[in-house]
Amino acid sequence: MNLQKKSIILISAFLIVLALNLKAKKPQNVIFMIGDGMGLSQIYAGMVANGNKLNLERCTYSGFSKTYSANNFTTDSGAGGTALACGVKTNNYMIGVTPDSVAAESILEVAEKNNLATGIVVACAVTHATPASFIAHQPNRNMNEEIALDFLKTDVDVFIGGGKKYFVERADNQNLIEKLKQKNYNVAFTLDEVKAVTSGKLAGLLYEDQSPNMPERGNMLTEGTMAAIDILDNNKKGFFLMIEGSQIDWACHDNNAEQTVKEMLDFDKTIGKVLDFAEKDGNTLVIITADHETGGMTIPTGDIVKGEINAIYTTKGHSGTPVPVFAFGPGSQNFTGFMQNTSFKNKIAKLLKIN
Ligand code: MG
Ligand code: ZN
Repeated sequence: MNLQKKSIILISAFLIVLALNLKAKKPQNVIFMIGDGMGLSQIYAGMVANGNKLNLERCTYSGFSKTYSANNFTTDSGAGGTALACGVKTNNYMIGVTPDSVAAESILEVAEKNNLATGIVVACAVTHATPASFIAHQPNRNMNEEIALDFLKTDVDVFIGGGKKYFVERADNQNLIEKLKQKNYNVAFTLDEVKAVTSGKLAGLLYEDQSPNMPERGNMLTEGTMAAIDILDNNKKGFFLMIEGSQIDWACHDNNAEQTVKEMLDFDKTIGKVLDFAEKDGNTLVIITADHETGGMTIPTGDIVKGEINAIYTTKGHSGTPVPVFAFGPGSQNFTGFMQNTSFKNKIAKLLKIN
């Protein structure tokens, strides 16, 4: 064999090995970001208002998620969150259970069981439907006190949001904050207290009930997220973190385009910080999607140069249209085309090699 042939064979072999490596690259951490009610119009409203750009655009893969629930063309956040977290379609208002009320394990619970660090950061009460779907198993999303008790049944490492009253002002007179402390949680009631905790377990209960909306909430979502990552990243086996931009939905229930933009941009600011971390880390998969669209929002006219949108809402409730999915980092190529909202759990588990 002459030298030229030898070189070609060697180079080919090297390229094949390189290609296989790139293909096989699996994430160590997954950050699952849910914009409640965030359809394409909500995203575009934020983008236009923000000078025709969003951090979200840094994602390299995208697709669509079908959001209908087991019993309704139009899902609520209970069934929507349960589908995303637990991989099952259930009835509206149900949390972490199948339509016949059998508990379904969430991806967070699977991660926890496999000794990954786990966390939740939301711009609402931690007992609200979306975060609850990752922790709790209850027949109805309104059972805030039962959902709070379910937090004690997990070993979730970090949770940050509102909803303090569901842990202390309870019909059963239990003080769940004392119980959290007994379980070695650092309990924080302000954002500064949250930021002071850099290891161990953290329960950040920053508001009595729901978090305020933007701009009153300030940097709660972004800084809470970075504080959570700071703690979870200590686990060398990896982590699973769910972050929710909770109030895009609420602004759209109010058919308030201006507020929709504020909430969208707060979520996108957090997305930017998360993508910065993922880019630097190199082993973190970021998935961004919604549980459903809210308001049947559309934007017939606007002005790109002036950053103006003229939005119309077609309902005060949710709509049944599929929502976009964006992904960044190792494994992101698995989140393209049309997918079921129930497909995330298994894809994430497979990529993290847990079950
Ligand atoms: Mg929600
Ligand atoms: Zn809603």
